[in-house]
Amino acid sequence: MPERNIESIDKVIGFDPFAKQWITVESGEPRSALAPIPPLDGVLAVDDESRDAAAVDLGNLSSEKPSAVLRPGSARDVAAMVAFCREQGIPVSSRGQAHTTFGQGLSRGLLIENRHLARIHSLGPDFAEVDAGVLWRDLTRAAYDQSPRLTPPVLTGYTGLTVGGTLSVGGVGGIVGGLRTGLQVDHVRELEVVTGTGAIERCSPTHRSDLFHAMLGGLGQCGIITKATIDLVPAAERARTYVLGYTDSGTFFRDLRTVIDRVGVDHVYAEFVAPGANPTFTLLATSFYDSPSAPDDQAILDGLGASPEIEDRGYMDHVLSIDNLIDPLCETEGWDRLVKPWFDTWLPGSRLEDFFTDIHPTLTPQDIGPYGAGLIYPQRRSHATRPLPRVPEPHGSEWMFVVDINTVSETPDPEPGFADSMLARNERLMSLTRERHGGVLYPIGSVRMTEPEWREHYGEAWDDFRSAKERYDPDHVLTPGPGVFGAPGTVGEA
Ligand SMILES: Cc1cc2nc3c(=O)[nH]c(=O)nc-3n(C[C@H](O)[C@H](O)[C@H](O)COP(=O)(O)OP(=O)(O)OC[C@H]3O[C@@H](n4cnc5c(N)ncnc54)[C@H](O)[C@@H]3O)c2cc1C
Repeated sequence: MPERNIESIDKVIGFDPFAKQWITVESGEPRSALAPIPPLDGVLAVDDESRDAAAVDLGNLSSEKPSAVLRPGSARDVAAMVAFCREQGIPVSSRGQAHTTFGQGLSRGLLIENRHLARIHSLGPDFAEVDAGVLWRDLTRAAYDQSPRLTPPVLTGYTGLTVGGTLSVGGVGGIVGGLRTGLQVDHVRELEVVTGTGAIERCSPTHRSDLFHAMLGGLGQCGIITKATIDLVPAAERARTYVLGYTDSGTFFRDLRTVIDRVGVDHVYAEFVAPGANPTFTLLATSFYDSPSAPDDQAILDGLGASPEIEDRGYMDHVLSIDNLIDPLCETEGWDRLVKPWFDTWLPGSRLEDFFTDIHPTLTPQDIGPYGAGLIYPQRRSHATRPLPRVPEPHGSEWMFVVDINTVSETPDPEPGFADSMLARNERLMSLTRERHGGVLYPIGSVRMTEPEWREHYGEAWDDFRSAKERYDPDHVLTPGPGVFGAPGTVGEA
């Protein structure tokens, strides 16, 4: 439920366009030039505590203190404040859980916290309509409680992320989906969007499809998703995961390629660490099933080059398995405050081994860190149907892979130079990945991009994306963080 705080609502009374500052009851007599803020169902906060809390994201690499924070009580609030900010030349960003790592959703103007829009409006039998601030784990729990049990077809590894946030980046199946599904964006039927003009629009593949396609994987450049209608599919009762460790990369890659095509395997991902550790690579292949039938272990493991540990658990325990690793780390190690210069790229299926030959020997234990992870996620290309997010050219393969080097510092204050050297590493790796392996940035991490680099990144989709920007956010009010349509912070600063 949205927080209501009448006191704060009443405190901000308007914006002084000449002084370029928000006016509160305490800040003095309203001036004649005052632009009054529209009536709101939620809260507009300008206190330091609210603004400081919204000044960083999970990466702790960049910081931008917003001049105001909106905790919306409705899509109307989002629309009213976007229209207001457009009029006043104030940049606007929105965030879900702010789990991107390089300031993608930060703002020096207004920051809209979508997590306050968190209602599940309807469920089943084969779709759910939810607010953008709903967490995937909450949607999955609610869907799983239905009879018959349901689930979103694709779930990210960590499920404490918002629907609006992952739909704005893509949503790779980190714990469910990928082998026989698209990305999360491929399983959306309809969106409600507040555009950069402050209009509330509904869009789908058949209605305002230009907006629909510009929003899914569109990094919040053309609008703010306020609601989404998402596919649901029948959920299994149990999950059996085969965990196989490798020191030999050849055997690992051979087995990875075998299991992604193996009948009976429903989800696969892999972890890697710097060379020298045992195991260096860990393959996790999962089969979903309903008891009393059970997966055929022998058929699934036939010919694989490592002996597995088998984890058998309920479906929801499987879905929440990464959350159950990360959330305690936030409690015990302050994980959310650690520095995270993440590198995340798509690779054409045929380039995976060569990419690892190039980069793996260069990795040191610090490149991942004790609280970080190296990850590989397979995705079948033919199921990834949206123009955004961008994915690599096929290079002769039906498969493509996301590779993450999710570096995490050991302490919140790592040695001087840590962040800079890791960011320089990311730039080096990204150039190599692009030039030598046909890789494409997965824009959740910490890689600096200029506007020409974004243009190249979007390739043949650029013209449509740019047209949608001009149509739906003509004054470039929205989401300057990634600098897609110009350097961050150069438009309408408050
Ligand atoms: C532990 C962990 C595991 C992860 N595993 C996976 C995985 O398996 N697969 C995967 O694909 N990703 C994964 N991610 C990355 C994740 O998808 C992104 O970080 C995602 O952006 C997080 O969602 P969020 O709610 O925090 O979005 P935010 O970081 O808040 O937002 C992401 C971007 O979208 C914009 N935005 C946010 N909400 C909206 C909205 N409603 N409308 C328009 N724009 C909006 C923001 O301005 C920002 O630019 C993981 C991240 C973490 C921390």
